[in-house]
Amino acid sequence: AYMPKDAPIFVAGHHGLVGSAIVRELERLGYTQVLTRSRAELDLQDADTVLSFFQETKPKFVVLAAAKVGGILANNTYPADFIHDNLKIQNSVIEACYATGVDRLLFLGSSCIYPKMAPQPMPESCLLTGPLEPTNRAYALAKIAGIEMCWSYNRQFGTKYLAAMPTNLYGPNDNFDLKNSHVLPALIRKTAQAIKDGSEAVEVWGSGTPKRELLYSDDLAEACVYLLNLPADEYAKLLREDTPPLINIGTGEDVTIRELAETVARVLGFKGVLRFDPSKPDGTPRKLMDVSLIHSLGWKHRVELEEGIRRTWEAVRGELAG
Ligand code: GDP
Repeated sequence: AYMPKDAPIFVAGHHGLVGSAIVRELERLGYTQVLTRSRAELDLQDADTVLSFFQETKPKFVVLAAAKVGGILANNTYPADFIHDNLKIQNSVIEACYATGVDRLLFLGSSCIYPKMAPQPMPESCLLTGPLEPTNRAYALAKIAGIEMCWSYNRQFGTKYLAAMPTNLYGPNDNFDLKNSHVLPALIRKTAQAIKDGSEAVEVWGSGTPKRELLYSDDLAEACVYLLNLPADEYAKLLREDTPPLINIGTGEDVTIRELAETVARVLGFKGVLRFDPSKPDGTPRKLMDVSLIHSLGWKHRVELEEGIRRTWEAVRGELAG
C-alpha cells in the first residue's frame, strides 16, 4: 500500500454516506490518523478556516467527500445552493491541499457530470461532449469545475489530484428523507411505511422506465482507498497531461426503476402493488458507467444489489419500521 498506516488522512464529509464508509474502511485497514471534523467544527465553505485547519493538522492524503447532494427533486428545486455550496467547498479544500503540500487528493463527484445523451456505458472520455441533464445541471457543473481544477493544478503545479466519479450510491448512512433523498432510500422508506400502514400501494415517481446503476457505499469506500493506495507508477498513469484525471467507479450493471422498486418490495416483504406517478420527473433515461478503467486496475465491486438492499434494510429497519 502506498499510504503509510500512520499517515494523516483527512476525510471531508465523514458524516455522509460516502465519507462515513471511507472512515470505516480506513479504520478497518489499520490507519491510525484519520482526521475528521463536523460541520460545526469546520466550515468547509470558508477558505481561511480550511487553510488554517490544514496548516495545523498537515494531512498527507485527502478525500473530498463533503458536498451538497440530493435527489432529483432537491437538485431541481435548489439549484443555486447546489452550485454555490459545492464550488465553495471544493475551492477551499483544493486550494488548501495545494498550499500545504498534500500528496494525493481524491475528489469525489457523481455520474451526472456526463452528458444526458452520452453513449451507454459512459466512458471517462465522454466528459463535456454534450448537454447535461437539466434537473441536476447546477450540481454537475460544480463537479465538472472541480475536475478541471484538479487537472489544472496537476498541470500547473505538478500536484497529484484524482477525481473519482461514483455511480448512484446507497447504504446505511443515507438520507432517508422522502422529498430530498435519492430513489433507493426513498423506496425503502415508502415501502416500510406501506407495510406499517397496511396500505396496498407504494408510490413510485416517474414512469419506472429510467435505468440506474447502484453501488453499495462500502464498495465505493474500498475503491477509494484502493485508488489512494495504487503504486506510484499506476497512479501516475491516471494523471496525464492530455486527459482529465478522472476515473469512474461503479458496477457496470443497471436496473430499471421498476425493477428496483420490485427488489425493495421483495427484500422488505411487501406484497402490494407499485403505483407510478408520471407528474414527477424521470430525469436522465440511463446513466451506466463504463468501468473498464477501474477494472483494469484490479478493482471490482463485491456487493450485489439485492444483498446491498438487504444490508441497508437490516441497518435501518429499527428506525423505519418502528
Ligand atoms: P437521479 O439519479 O439524479 O435522477 O436522482 P434520483 O435517485 O432522485 O432519481 C432516480 C430516478 O428514480 C428518477 O427517475 C426518479 O423519478 C425515480 N424515482 C422513483 N421514485 C422515487 C422517489 O421516491 N424518490 C426519488 N428521489 N426518485 C424516485
